[in-house]
Amino acid sequence: MLDGWVFPDITVHFVAILCLLVVWQYYQMQIMAGRILAVDIFDRSGIRMYVYVTPAADHICEVCAKSSGRVFLPSQVAKRHFSPLVGKCKRPTPCLGTLVGLYGGWLEARGVLEHLRKNMKKGGIQLSAEEVRALVNGQWERCISAETDRLGVHMIEALSYEKINQDVSVVGYRFVANESKEVRHLMFLVPAYLRLMHLLLEAGEEAEALEVIDRFENRFPPTKHGPHFPSDEQRNMMMTRKSQLMKGLPFRIPA
Ligand SMILES: [Zn+2]
Repeated sequence: MLDGWVFPDITVHFVAILCLLVVWQYYQMQIMAGRILAVDIFDRSGIRMYVYVTPAADHICEVCAKSSGRVFLPSQVAKRHFSPLVGKCKRPTPCLGTLVGLYGGWLEARGVLEHLRKNMKKGGIQLSAEEVRALVNGQWERCISAETDRLGVHMIEALSYEKINQDVSVVGYRFVANESKEVRHLMFLVPAYLRLMHLLLEAGEEAEALEVIDRFENRFPPTKHGPHFPSDEQRNMMMTRKSQLMKGLPFRIPA
């Protein structure tokens, strides 16, 4: 019946692109689920700079706190032994901190990027806590790169507002925990779940804290491991909180 039917070139190309997209999506899903290891978890496409941010909380060691706000070019992050820290973390269980990649097309971000490029020879730049907040308070949503940067901006906002407005941080972490669907966001997930659980407990929102722990356990089953998956200590901490919450025991809120 199809004798003599010739597929136009464009159809062949379209089908080939569709196949590649399906394969790519499948690959991303496998990495997100921890079934395969991404050789390079950093998807640097569309990223022009990275900002390292630790939660604005008391338990962060002095080395990590001193490193918060450092800004890097993708070429620096790509180096083999790159670390965003100025030294070695002082805690036996390393402090939480996240390297957030941004395209940064909005005014404040363009300013930071320009400043970084000009100061590369002097060893790069570091933003103060106020400057980090000013960066994400800019008009990023009106910018063409809003979709690329949305998760990253919410993550920076959540991390940097913990001491100033915990509601902002809860909304930010919740958004990151719910909406991280791309491989490049995988590194935000563990810090977002841990800090969200902590802030909910502090706010007395125990039911939601329990729900967050359940989702964390489903998202990172004990049998699965991968880059940016929780450490054993982090899993144990979540399990301990869960059993305390289930038994209705009073607990000391962790730092
Ligand atoms: Zn540290």
